[in-house]
Amino acid sequence: MFCSHCGKQLADGSAVCPYCGAQLKAAQQQVPFDGNGSPAPDRQPIYTQAPPPPPPQVYPAGDTTNVLAIVGFILAFFVPIAGLVCSILGKKKAAELGGSGQGLATAGVVISSIEIAIYVLAVLVYVIIIIAAIGAAGTMPTY
Ligand SMILES: [Zn+2]
Repeated sequence: MFCSHCGKQLADGSAVCPYCGAQLKAAQQQVPFDGNGSPAPDRQPIYTQAPPPPPPQVYPAGDTTNVLAIVGFILAFFVPIAGLVCSILGKKKAAELGGSGQGLATAGVVISSIEIAIYVLAVLVYVIIIIAAIGAAGTMPTY
């Protein structure tokens, strides 16, 4: 290699020229520095494109959908008590959302109420059958 300052021949890898004192590593460091400089502008456009993701824009659009009313309506068929609670909360939510899901929430309340009534009737019938069975069993030995 040759000194870039005075042009004299030097040993390879010399950091400082022993003839003129010029720092030679500075010239070598500029080569990778240019290499690091070029990818940096490429990353910046990617960063500016990343901030606008669609999910935050979907949320205000889905603001009018009454999730509680939908969940309450579905739960009314499977878990009537949970469906009733969700539907009642859904009706309150529907009032906040300007009537969205009002019909669904009302349907959820009606369906879950009917199902709870059926369950209560079924339990009452079951209890009556047990009482009748115990009464019948009690009368059996005296026969
Ligand atoms: Zn030199």
